[in-house]
Amino acid sequence: MKVGFYGHVRQYQNIKAEIDANIQKVLMSGGYVQGPMLKQFEKELAEFSGTKHAIGVGNGTDAIWLVLMALGIGAGDEVITHPNTFFATAEAIWIAGATAVFVDCDPKTKCIDPAKIEAAITPKTKAIIPVHLYGQCADMKAIRKIADKHKLMIVEDNAQAFDAAGDGFKIGELSEAATTSFIIQKNLGTFGDSGAIVTNNPEIDKKVRMLHNHGSNARNVHSFGFNSRLDDLHAGILSAKMKHIHAGNDQRRKWAARYTAGFKGAKSFTLPYETPGYRHVFHLYVIETKKPEQRDQLVKFLVDNGVDAKTHYSIAIHKQAGYPWGKGARIVGSMENAERNAATCVSLPMFPELTAEEVDYVIAKVMEWDKKA
Ligand SMILES: *Cc1c(COP(=O)(O)O)cnc(C)c1O
Repeated sequence: MKVGFYGHVRQYQNIKAEIDANIQKVLMSGGYVQGPMLKQFEKELAEFSGTKHAIGVGNGTDAIWLVLMALGIGAGDEVITHPNTFFATAEAIWIAGATAVFVDCDPKTKCIDPAKIEAAITPKTKAIIPVHLYGQCADMKAIRKIADKHKLMIVEDNAQAFDAAGDGFKIGELSEAATTSFIIQKNLGTFGDSGAIVTNNPEIDKKVRMLHNHGSNARNVHSFGFNSRLDDLHAGILSAKMKHIHAGNDQRRKWAARYTAGFKGAKSFTLPYETPGYRHVFHLYVIETKKPEQRDQLVKFLVDNGVDAKTHYSIAIHKQAGYPWGKGARIVGSMENAERNAATCVSLPMFPELTAEEVDYVIAKVMEWDKKA
């Protein structure tokens, strides 16, 4: 049996009529950039998120640096995040002209460890970017407390946890803004690139709307800005898919529970941790081998047996030689949890359109390896 990592074509086939109808609607509307379908999707996205504003942008990376710039964060400012995330989180800080400061992740959730943040705060610190890694929210209540105490802003990198929630808090509620990515691989993804920002702050909404569209909110009138827009074809695809995202995430949670039950008694790896009371949407189902030297063995065994396993992320950002370290970017304290995660993580196939046979096959292969490991 072969089990792929993504189910994009299956998903398209399941809701083809709705997606095709929206594509036709955009094509016949005559408005393709900043047109009526984008307006409709932005309204739906704000409603879905429970925020006052939603702005479509070109991708999830732009969404982060556009918010940082809208908040006035740039040269000479420091932004705290953690190194076990997709490179773009730190890249966006650098693009904004600010300096990334890394603290370690929590050993269980893999999200930023709130207890490590205060040691990294200096008079230059302006913001914290928690990443809702693998589909589960960071401890936003604790992070908000620290931010309030030190008068810092929070930008949630929500590229991986669309439709997740905490215990009594929503994404975008305890921060200045939350950003997301709609690249095809994400839980809510279009057939290409795009991203968005959701916020309750009208000033951020206004500034990002200017910045992302050539600094313009009136024809022929411009200020400092860029071109980073979500075009209407993608908005139409996303509008159709968003109607199914909650059910899709529920199905991911069911597959995650099936994996977890199937891995009972495993001796050579640990399972993903779910924070009590949180809604984890399992963008990724990541297990960790107990010994680093077992990780590549497990991935190879699975790939050799037709299971497309991957690693997220096998090089933590503070170990990326290509990051522009020259501008003062630095780590504060030990990065042992992030480094262990980089050395031991294995992502198993996880998408709503998996079948029970496929999930059971993955379980059987992982457990076959576990017996020998
Ligand atoms: C995917 C991702 C991004 C970047 O999104 P793009 O749309 O690819 O620019 C940023 N942060 C995290 C955590 C991501 O997973």
